[in-house]
This record gives sequence, structure tokens and C-alpha cells, in this order.
Amino acid sequence: MRVFHFCCAGGTRLCSIDYGDLPPPYNRAIVTLPNVAHHAIVAAVQQHKNATLRYGTSVTGLLREGRQVVGLSTHGPDGTTTIRAKIVVGADGAFSKVREALKIPADLYLYPDGYLIAILESEEPVSESSYYVGHKTILGIFPATGNKAYLFYMIPKDSMEAVKQRGIAALQEQWSQIAPQFSRLFRCLRDWSQTAYMPTGRVRTPTWVADGAVLIGDAAHAMNPHASQGRMQAMVHAMALSDLLPACLADQDYSVARLKEFERVRRPQVTMLQQLADQQVFYWNTDNPVVAFLRDRVFQTLDRNARLRYQVLSTTAGLRTMPPFSSIDRVIAAEFLPDIRAHERSSHSTSS
Ligand SMILES: Cc1cc2nc3c(=O)[nH]c(=O)nc-3n(C[C@H](O)[C@H](O)[C@H](O)COP(=O)(O)OP(=O)(O)OC[C@H]3O[C@@H](n4cnc5c(N)ncnc54)[C@H](O)[C@@H]3O)c2cc1C
Repeated sequence: MRVFHFCCAGGTRLCSIDYGDLPPPYNRAIVTLPNVAHHAIVAAVQQHKNATLRYGTSVTGLLREGRQVVGLSTHGPDGTTTIRAKIVVGADGAFSKVREALKIPADLYLYPDGYLIAILESEEPVSESSYYVGHKTILGIFPATGNKAYLFYMIPKDSMEAVKQRGIAALQEQWSQIAPQFSRLFRCLRDWSQTAYMPTGRVRTPTWVADGAVLIGDAAHAMNPHASQGRMQAMVHAMALSDLLPACLADQDYSVARLKEFERVRRPQVTMLQQLADQQVFYWNTDNPVVAFLRDRVFQTLDRNARLRYQVLSTTAGLRTMPPFSSIDRVIAAEFLPDIRAHERSSHSTSS
């Protein structure tokens, strides 16, 4: 996808973000169903002769020699097994069993809102992405494979049953009020089996490493999806580890001190993204009219201000380790100050 339109609930456009402003290969955003990405990765892993995939197998605990982690125990179709490993990488999500077995404390926060998601088969192609914000309202419509559209609609956690009770017609009516131009598409929702609920959570941990073990992805730092970087950061971690581990293996050194380098390199961007996502939750999910007014003003400033738009886009694309706005930028974004550099857009505002 190249263009994402941000609109007010009701339909008025606030701002358009064009990934084409970024240098290749970052000039498109990939919109894909999570299972499609997952299968692509699994298929690539399967190509490696030295990798084994064990389906239906769960990690149940860790093997230790003194303080050192030397493997893990699993339970699966073949019963209970132990696997020895020089380094265990826990990439097992926000409720990580590996993290628990490492006794790394986690501050696990479930946001009050999650998403009802739906895949709809559209009668006509959906070519651009639209994102609607209103008072306590978020509705996104993204193109997916073929004529399919991927919808996500913010609902309070634990309210999926109540939404279902009110019925499909009531939901279609709500969506049509938010995004009238997609009313025909919404009629393609016929059955609750086209929908699912996705909770949102944040994980903070004091460390990501132990002697012989590392946490990556949501196990280390789940974040609100507003950052649109959770999966990306998990993959960047994998790349950072693949740079670090060969030397650890060569030196047979899998200590905390050695693995801490991974955390030193990766933690600043992740912390920035978690904080940014929380600020976005405050402004985007709000039911406070003053906060919503400010949010819409910022979107409108972004539409006119190429410099700030580039800073936001490069952060969302994972290319920037600094927050998108300085203190002065915040004042400018809220239209309390003019920006004499509004039309500047240079790659040196990106740091990766
Ligand atoms: C609504 C929503 C929208 C999102 N949008 C985006 C986006 O636009 N861009 C983006 O980059 N990210 C996005 N994310 C975030 C992204 O989905 C997560 O950050 C990402 O899935 C984390 O990957 P992970 O591999 O660390 O964990 P997970 O995807 O949770 O994978 C963990 C894996 O570990 C397995 N597992 C768990 N326990 C065990 C066990 N005991 N033994 C063996 N295996 C186990 C699970 O089965 C699972 O396969 C979004 C999230 C949500 C909720």
C-alpha cells in the first residue's frame, strides 16, 4: 500500500500519508493477514537444513546448569521432550512461558480497548487504506488480497458478546455512519465467522537477557498496535541477534554480559515506540472532545506540513529511533506556532 487516508468519523478527510515519500524499499507499506506473514516465515525457515519445526509442541520449562540456561523442556505429540541449546530465544508472545521460566518480572497491561476485526469480500476493489477517528471511535479499512478488505473496529475489551447481541445490522449501521462511502462494503458482513476479536496489551520487562537466554518480540515488549511496529521490531530483533550470536558461539560465551549488547542496541527504539503508541492511545482513542479537537488539528497540520509528516511516517515505518516530534514540533503540530521549515523534507531527519 502507498496511501493511507486519515478521516473524521463521518467522512471528512484530515490527512493523507504517502509511503511514496520514503526512499525505496520503504516506499510501500505491507498490509497482510498475520497468518500469511507467519506462513511465509515458516516456509523460509523450513528451507534451512539445520532448522527443525515441531508443530503442536509447547515449551513447558527451561533446563539449567547452575545459573546458565542450557535448553528447554517441551510437551507435544511426541510426549515430553528436552532440547539442549546454547542459547534459548523466547519469541513466544506477550504471555511468554520462557519469560516466566526465566523469572523475569513483567509489567503486563491490557488496554481498555481492543479490536473487532473482519475480512470482507468486496464487490469492487478497495485500492487505498482509510482510517477513521472520532469520539471513542476508530475504524480502519485496508485492502487485502484480491477484492478482500480488512476492517478493524475499536471496541471495549470484553464487549464482543454485547456487539454480537446487538446484531450485524446494528454494526453495519454504526460503520456506515463513520464511513458512509463504504456502506456497500459493510453489507458484505453476513456472518460473525468473518470476524474475530484482538486484544491489545503492553509488556515491559526490566531485562531481555539471562545467562543463555534472550527474549524477543512481544515476550520482551508488546506495544499498542497504534505504533504498527510490534511485528517489525520482533523481526529487527531477530536480525540484530543474528549479527551478535555467531561471535558468542565462536567464543562460547552466552553470558548476560555478552547478550546485553543486543538489548543495548535494541531497547531505545522499542521504548520510544511504546511511549509513542501510548500517546497515540491517549489522542486517538479519546472520548474527550477537547483532546479529539487537538488530535484532528494535528492530523490537519500533518497534511500541510511535509517536514512533520515525514518525521511521523519514518517513525511509523520503523526508520527512526527518535520520537517524531520535539517539544517545539508539538506546539507547531497543534497550530500554536507557524513552521518556517514546513516544506523541508530531508532524509537527514531520519535516523535508524
Ligand atoms: C490489532 C493488532 C494490530 C497489529 N498491527 C500491527 C502492525 O500493523 N504492524 C506490526 O508490526 N505489528 C502489529 N501488531 C503487533 C503484532 O501482531 C505483534 O507485535 C507480533 O505478532 C509479535 O510477534 P511475536 O512473534 O513476538 O509474538 P506472537 O505473534 O504472539 O507469537 C508468539 C508465538 O509463540 C507461540 N507460543 C506461545 N507460547 C508458547 C509455548 N509455551 N511454547 C511454544 N510456542 C508458544 C504462539 O503460538 C505464537 O505462535 C498488531 C497487533 C494487534 C493486536
